[in-house]
Amino acid sequence: MPFPISSIPASLSSVDRIPDVIQPLLGSLGHTLHSQLAAIWLFFAMCGVLELCLSILICRPIERRWPLTSWPERNPIAADVTYAFFVRIVLFPLVAFFEYSWLRNGLDRFLLRHALAPPSLATLIPFLAGLPPVLFFLHFAILDLADYWKHRLSHRFGWWYGIHSLHHAEEQMTFWSDERSHVLEDTITYLWLIAVGLAIGVPAFQFPFLILSLRFIGSLAHSNTRISYGWLGDRILISPRFHRTHHARNAAGRRSRNFGTALSWWDMLFGTARFADSTVETGDAGAEAAMVNGSWGQQQAAGFRRMVRRGKGARAARVAS
Ligand SMILES: [Zn+2]
Ligand SMILES: [Zn+2]
Repeated sequence: MPFPISSIPASLSSVDRIPDVIQPLLGSLGHTLHSQLAAIWLFFAMCGVLELCLSILICRPIERRWPLTSWPERNPIAADVTYAFFVRIVLFPLVAFFEYSWLRNGLDRFLLRHALAPPSLATLIPFLAGLPPVLFFLHFAILDLADYWKHRLSHRFGWWYGIHSLHHAEEQMTFWSDERSHVLEDTITYLWLIAVGLAIGVPAFQFPFLILSLRFIGSLAHSNTRISYGWLGDRILISPRFHRTHHARNAAGRRSRNFGTALSWWDMLFGTARFADSTVETGDAGAEAAMVNGSWGQQQAAGFRRMVRRGKGARAARVAS
């Protein structure tokens, strides 16, 4: 039984044609569902690891050549490396393809049973159907906008910032720091991006590549480097300088700015952009030591404790007022 890869729309970008290439390979695996699932998992895990290798190949030389700061003693980066591989090998294939594909197919079947067309930007704006790269970029920009608001709201609510502060607790920020986040926050992020992806009709095989594109720009933005992308470039893409302002030690929580992941347009549009800033020190003064330097498990537990504490604090403040 072939694995139902996706419902492919009329407008195809090159990534949507990948199933045409791998479907015969999957067929040659003997038509067992398990071997096909394993092959698809392996394919996306390899895409994730390749993206990580590309980030390392680009970011490490940049950090060496144009460093922003150096530390007398480097904190262990084992936890950050664990995040990077865990996300790309486990979470990314599982959620960005299998879960999204399953929901995409289920939604399309449900809508077609009720004689409704699946939602799609190409249906809404027909001329986009003939411009797959433009459609890909629009999907990318809309997912980035969704991520901007998710990130901004995570700084608004106490319990949510409790888990998000695990990302801000990093005091030696490098490109490895991009994936440093709590599993609860990863869950919220993926559910939110999946919902938006389904609503705008992102094909199942395109969604993982959109996520990888966001992650790649995110890794660059966390680099420990003084480079900017120039006056114009900084107003298009999130640069390391721009994102470091978001991580400023004295601006954690509600006081933060620069919430974007890939495009700086949303911060400019919604009045949260701050370009002229010389932040060097990153971190969160309220984060306990385990959240800063602990192992992966200790960081996760500390993030959960802070979420509970801040949630209780907010509830108590509401009752008192
Ligand atoms: Zn943040
Ligand atoms: Zn960050």
